[in-house]
Order: sequence, then structure tokens, then C-alpha cells
Amino acid sequence: TAWISVANARKEEAIAPRAEVRGWVRTRRDSKGGFSFIEVNDGSCFGNLQIVAPAELANYESEIQKLSAGCSIVATGELVASPAKGQATEMHATEVRVIGWADPETYPLQKKRHSFEKLREWAHLRPRTNTFGAVARVRNQISQSIHDFYHERGFLYVNTPIITASDCEGAGEMFRVTSLDLEMLAKKGGPVKYEYDFFQKPAYLTVSGQLNGETYATALGRIYTFGPTFRAENSNTSRHLAEFWMVEPEAAFFDLNDNMQLAEDFLKRIFTDCLNHCEEDMAFFDSMIEKGKVDQLKAVVEKPFTHMPYTEAISILESTTEKFDYPISWGTDLQAEHERFLTEKHVGGPVILTDYPSTIKPFYMRVSEDGKTVAAMDVLVPGVGEIIGGSQREERLDVLQSRMDEAGLNQDDYWWYIDTRKYGTVPHAGFGLGLERAVQYATGMANIRDVIPFPRTPGNADF
Ligand code: ATP
Ligand code: MG
Ligand code: MG
Ligand code: MG
Repeated sequence: TAWISVANARKEEAIAPRAEVRGWVRTRRDSKGGFSFIEVNDGSCFGNLQIVAPAELANYESEIQKLSAGCSIVATGELVASPAKGQATEMHATEVRVIGWADPETYPLQKKRHSFEKLREWAHLRPRTNTFGAVARVRNQISQSIHDFYHERGFLYVNTPIITASDCEGAGEMFRVTSLDLEMLAKKGGPVKYEYDFFQKPAYLTVSGQLNGETYATALGRIYTFGPTFRAENSNTSRHLAEFWMVEPEAAFFDLNDNMQLAEDFLKRIFTDCLNHCEEDMAFFDSMIEKGKVDQLKAVVEKPFTHMPYTEAISILESTTEKFDYPISWGTDLQAEHERFLTEKHVGGPVILTDYPSTIKPFYMRVSEDGKTVAAMDVLVPGVGEIIGGSQREERLDVLQSRMDEAGLNQDDYWWYIDTRKYGTVPHAGFGLGLERAVQYATGMANIRDVIPFPRTPGNADF
């Protein structure tokens, strides 16, 4: 008998005299007419397949009537058109084999709805719920779209290192890497040298692949990196993780406008793909997580994004009657509340903020003619805030070097980076998109901990 996924079994064209499905029981109820209705899901889609198991089956009383949520089964039978509403097909089982039991006395995912907070304690079980299955499929779609988009545009996929000595962002948020068992050395009475712990050299987990990515862009033209990124964010917000995934395109001969266009096309492509390829999941988010999500995304992919210089954003924020917890004035960075006000109340959609003060942005961003601002671009979206941070890079050797001095960076540590400006320098630009923030925006999930399988936050790295 041919195995068929639940996703395919649910389609009208699946109707067949004999098929096999394999999955996990979501619910079971017995009808008076001598049937059991078993809802089975195998992760291939949001919906379940209804399996009708007649009392004639040999294990009906001994096993089928004992099935409960979480049990794994293999069912064989006929796929027929379903008389029930909301499903094209159902299976009339000739055999239901139980593969694994899930004791309803102890299985945590019973009928009762659990809060997302509670489900975080069961990160290993939550993919069995509707919400987390849907999140996983949308996240998978976005990852696929990322590769598709850049490959179609001729960007080369480059892997930048996870372990590095350079602090790209200069924000002091790096995790230190060690090859020493510090505890053991301390027990032995030391000496414990924290300074040189990656085989006698200091090293950290990467906060961004950008600087390494630039060296490939300035040789091969258009590249992107896509991998895990680490930041010692010692705060608890709904949009920061200590470990997250970032996509970073970098393109030679790009200016800020090219960069903004790329970012806009890219985001629109991601959300279009979610709408087209994850219809059932998106309908779920639309009805259960954020009302109107689907229409909101449809509008976003159709309209051009709003562009706004930082200076204009500041005067809007300073003149509104809205009350903020954090003061805002020219020269300070926007907080989440400011980003939300601009996107949700002022514009009502995504905003690309440009030309930030050089004092609040890293050394590699291109200094503008006014000497005060840099060619930066942050893309902000309603509900999430900053989703992309990027810039045109400083390609002039002398300006770059004086910016490094101002930032207190040791040029000797960055000799390899400086070489890209010494030899055949070109204007270039790029940005970083946080994968989880993109998934948050696409799904409407409020907390970033709920869009990555195993969130890493302060105090949370057990499994
Ligand atoms: P924020 O202002 O929200 O702290 P950032 O300006 O520090 O973000 P960038 O250095 O510009 O972030 O990184 C590029 C992108 O990576 C951000 O726009 C965001 O989408 C994502 N990102 C940054 N930090 C985190 C984090 N701790 N967890 C998840 N995503 C993040
Ligand atoms: Mg940050
Ligand atoms: Mg920021
Ligand atoms: Mg940023």
C-alpha cells in the first residue's frame, strides 16, 4: 500500500481504494453507530485527516477505543470523499496499527489549551501543537524563500565563521569562546587565564557575518550569508534572543538606494511566498493570533514602503502628544516604543528610516557629505519594530581609518578588513535581516521565543 502524507490525503484528487497514512492522534471520539473518528496529523499541513475506524476491526475495543492525543498510528484504508464540512476527504480504515502509546494520565498536551508561556517549558513537545506546527512551516518557507530570492538574483551563498575575534557591531555583546575547562583548572589551583582561551588566543561567537562577508562581496560582487548569530543580550524583551539567525546580503557597486530597493523586494518576496505557499497556516494566524494579518500582508506587498530620514522621524516623535517612557531627541537611538509609534500610528505600515547620526551607528557605515550622518537604513514594521539594519559601507580608506580611531578600535586587528579599501576599493552596501523577526511579523506571534524551536535567552540553554 502506498504511503501518502496527510497534506496530500486531504486533497480531492487523493481519492483511492487503498492508502496508508502515518502520524499522531490529535483527538478520538466514538460515535453511537459503532465507529471511532480519529483525527490524525503528520506535520505535513495544518489540517488533520479524519479516519473512520469501524467496530469490526479486530483491535477496536482492545486498542482503537483507547487511543488518545499523542499516540502514533499507521492507518490503512480507502480514501473517500467526505460528507463532513471543511474536509474534502476522509479515510475508511481497514487497519489501524498502534505504534506508540501516550499515557493520557501524564501526557502534557491534553485537550486543555496551554499558554505560550507554559509551552516554552515543553519546547520538545510544543511542535505537536497547531500553533507551533504552523510556525515551523512558515519559518521553513521563509528560509527557503531567502535562498530562492538571492539565487535568482545571482547572489553567492557564502558561509562566514561562527568563531571570530572581531566585534563587528562594537556593542560589547559578544559571548566568549573557551577551549579550556575553567572549572577543572580552578580546582587544580590555576592559573586560569581568561584572556587567551581559544588555543591561546581570544575568540568570540559572531555577532554578524558582515565584515567577513564584505571581503567576498568586494571580490565576487554579490553575496549573502545566512547563519546563526549570537549576542549577549542581557535583557528580556519580546524581540531579542541570545542566539538568532541572520541573513546578510552584501553587494559591490551598490549605493543606499540600491540597498533599500533590495531590502524592500526581499521582504515582499518573503511575505508573498508565505501567503501563497502556507495558505492554511496563514489563515490560522489570521484568525487565532493576529486578526487581519493576511490582508495586512497583502497590502504590504502591494504598496511601496515609506522612506523617512532619521531627522524627520525625530521631529515627528518630538512633536506628537503621545507619551513615551524614554526621551527622544536628535542623536539618540529609537526605542521599541518609538518604532511602534512611527510604523503603527504615524505611517500605518513599514518604514525605511535613513541617515542616522554617525554617533549611534558602527564605524563601517558611510559618512555623508554633512559629516554628521551616515548612509544607514533600518526597516521598521508594525508590531515588531526594527526587522532590518543596513547601510552603504565606508569605502574611502582615510575616512574609514579615522572612524575606527574615533570608535577606539585597534587598526592592527582589522588589517584584513582595511585591505579591502586599500586594494581596488568600491562602493558597496548590505544589510542584516533577523529571521525570527521576519517570522514574527509574518505570523503575528508576539514573542520571539515562540518563533524559534529552542529559544536561547538569559537562563535558558538547558536543551
Ligand atoms: P535592536 O535595535 O532591535 O537591538 P540591532 O540594531 O542591535 O537590533 P542589528 O545589529 O542592526 O540589530 O542586526 C540586524 C538585524 O538582526 C536586526 O534588524 C534584527 O532583525 C536582528 N537582530 C538583532 N539583534 C537581535 C536579537 N538579539 N535577537 C533577534 N534578532 C536580532
Ligand atoms: Mg541590539
Ligand atoms: Mg537597532
Ligand atoms: Mg540595527
